[in-house]
Amino acid sequence: MEGSEFEEHGAQMLHYVTSYMDSVRSRRALPDVQPGFMQELIPSRAPETPDKWEDVFKDIERVIMPGVTHWQSPNFFAYFPTAQSYPSMLADMLCNAIGCIGFTWASCPSCTELEVVMMDWLGQLLHLPDSFLFCKPGKGGGVIQGTASEATLMCLLSARTLFFKKEREKNPDVTMGQLVDRLVAYCSDQAHSSVERAGLIGAVRMRKLETDEKGSLRGPTLKAAILEDKAKGLLPFFVCATSGTTTSCAFDNLKELGPVCQEHGVWMHVDAAYAGSAFICPEFRPLIDGVEHAMSFNFNPHKWLKIMFDCSALWVQNTDYLRYAFDVDPLYLKHENQGVMPDFRHWQIPLGRRFRSLKIWFVLRLYGQRKLQEAIRKDVRLAHEFETMVRSDDRFEIAADVILGLVCFRLKGENELSERLLKLLNADGRIHLVPSKMKGNFFLRLAICGPDTQSSDVRRAWDVIRELTDVVLKSDAK
Ligand code: PLP
Repeated sequence: MEGSEFEEHGAQMLHYVTSYMDSVRSRRALPDVQPGFMQELIPSRAPETPDKWEDVFKDIERVIMPGVTHWQSPNFFAYFPTAQSYPSMLADMLCNAIGCIGFTWASCPSCTELEVVMMDWLGQLLHLPDSFLFCKPGKGGGVIQGTASEATLMCLLSARTLFFKKEREKNPDVTMGQLVDRLVAYCSDQAHSSVERAGLIGAVRMRKLETDEKGSLRGPTLKAAILEDKAKGLLPFFVCATSGTTTSCAFDNLKELGPVCQEHGVWMHVDAAYAGSAFICPEFRPLIDGVEHAMSFNFNPHKWLKIMFDCSALWVQNTDYLRYAFDVDPLYLKHENQGVMPDFRHWQIPLGRRFRSLKIWFVLRLYGQRKLQEAIRKDVRLAHEFETMVRSDDRFEIAADVILGLVCFRLKGENELSERLLKLLNADGRIHLVPSKMKGNFFLRLAICGPDTQSSDVRRAWDVIRELTDVVLKSDAK
């Protein structure tokens, strides 16, 4: 494709994208297709000679759209939001055009340098302690990871290496193999599955600790577990606290957990994948009071801050711990200015990395802090509106405190009623929700997800839920 054709087809694509966004509300949120549906729609082999752009373009609606779950639809209330915005799309276009792989400062200086500044901009927006920022004295700094899962894994592996280094100072003969067998990490029974996976990949025990009635991990529970494990000869080294659990948006008590971690020399990592974006609003920032005790903090701007996937922001108080845990230095990656600016290849699992800070730059500049705050507050307001509707119908109950943009609710009585309601809702397809369970209670999660979800969409969702609840309860009465 030549540049002139790209401009022409690009204009057509831009028009398609804006029309898609403008009309996404009218599409069914959940597609009505069966596994394997696409095999009948496309050939089983790649073409030998070029297809025409017109044919490819036509196939977007014919082949792709029938099986698309419309995450940006105001009728999509499942999981957590995934961010989307035009400024972020524009930045991704530029990122694709530049097409650099910024693994070291030398491999693309602007890629590294913009990331350093953007991580400070973001960190300041969240009012993170100065000790996490590049621009303040100390060894703190941030880096963009692909996902929260990678961030947790990076921190667990760094904590493991740090622990090994300290043990080696005491006993130079000790091997990693001898230690790994005795290492123990902790998270709450509400932590995301990626935390358990980090333990599996890091080959360490991950002990899930019981939370209080609100789904929050408390200091005394952690302390008791650490003391119990130490008495057994195990070596506690890492805790992953969650700020905004996936199940119910509960918050572990960082103010209590932090001092326990410090007393026992344990690395505290905070996973705020979803909730982190809300901390740009001062009224929500107290939810992470105690974060100053954390060695590392992570959230996904790609969930709720208009910066598109993939962009997961990770800060550490001492960047040496990341760097030294993964320092392999072949000649072909070395450069003359090593050590002046970060070489982010040491701070992540892959070598390659895209110019992702461009989309942070575009979004923060083209929206500004105030508009981003307004968007978060709108979603929280909508969640409370929905909560009020649920509370006004005595067939339902709220299953967890509504703190941000997630409402957990259920039909009173046996789990089976809510299970049947969810099945009907998703078969109906007008709105899409997913369930969760806490302490044996099955419930539905309604997360405000679409960038343009309005009060009328939430009211409509509630109408659909009530309509299908009548069906569930009628069939139950028979
Ligand atoms: N942690 C929490 C609390 C989450 O809610 C999620 C996903 O929703 C994750 C981690 C995993 O995020 P990612 O897909 O970025 O790995």
